[in-house]
Amino acid sequence: MSLLTVGSVAFDAIETPFGKTDKIIGGAGTYIAIAASFFEKDQKIVAVVGDDFPQSMLDLLSNRNVDLTGLQIKIGEKSFFWSGKYHNDMNSRDTLITELNVLEHFDPIIPEKYQGVEFLMLGNLTPQVQKLVVERLETRPKLVAMDTMNFWMDIAMDDLKETLKVVDLLIINDEEARQLSGENSLAKASKAIRNMGPKYLIIKKGEHGALLFHGDQMFSAPGLPLEEVFDPTGAGDTFAGGFMGYLSSTNDISFDNMKRAIIAGSALASYCVEKFGTEKLTQISQQDLDQRIQQFVALANFEMIYQL
Ligand code: AMP
Repeated sequence: MSLLTVGSVAFDAIETPFGKTDKIIGGAGTYIAIAASFFEKDQKIVAVVGDDFPQSMLDLLSNRNVDLTGLQIKIGEKSFFWSGKYHNDMNSRDTLITELNVLEHFDPIIPEKYQGVEFLMLGNLTPQVQKLVVERLETRPKLVAMDTMNFWMDIAMDDLKETLKVVDLLIINDEEARQLSGENSLAKASKAIRNMGPKYLIIKKGEHGALLFHGDQMFSAPGLPLEEVFDPTGAGDTFAGGFMGYLSSTNDISFDNMKRAIIAGSALASYCVEKFGTEKLTQISQQDLDQRIQQFVALANFEMIYQL
């Protein structure tokens, strides 16, 4: 099948207790596309960069079978820039700078050859732009998934609620689920959010794994305890990319297959945090990923023996 990702392709500057980077490659769309490429060999991207964005990174995406026809390069303009600083526990961070630059007037133009795409991943972006993409696709994809963040809840909650009405799956973290629903219990939050539109909901809990909700069904994926978390930036996007890449490559949106997709996404995200930015993701092989997936399987696998 084919997967279309819409998301930021950007520069980031990151500060963690382990060190600091200058401008490095980041962006939700970048992480999603790299992660999905481990599974899906037919990917498309709709994004925008300035003429300051390195050709080498675009080549890296093309070499991973990402069709860049929908990537706009704005001459004389600057790419999106985000800077964040992590606290000592690495579970929370402060956004220091968000320079929208090319994203400020981003018009997500869908190339004709992208029409008919089966899976759509809307990375963290202005909710209005996310909705526009769904409206511009002539055929409804088999699954429309989206990510968002507190930034949009703070400044564009009404738009966000409109966009939620047109998606099938929302992928957010626990803090965002609580903010969006106004509920402290994640079980209650999951119901309230699914009443806003998406039939499926994934709540990521950082190092504690992730929850999947659909109807009365629920699945809990573990988090792999890692000795060192170097930089969590992009872990959520990597998770979403691995999840959607797995689903589209298997062309199966059953609940059981979504469980497998969550493990695929979790395994990739666990690699992502081991180095700054996208570095680790671009270094690992399919064999490394296979080993990590097996670690996740072993972590959650047990046989219950009991007498009552
Ligand atoms: P995550 O750590 O998964 O939340 O994703 C971090 C990535 O999201 C970084 O690479 C940023 O470039 C990107 N990002 C941060 N804020 C925004 C925003 N407001 N719109 C689009 N992308 C963003």
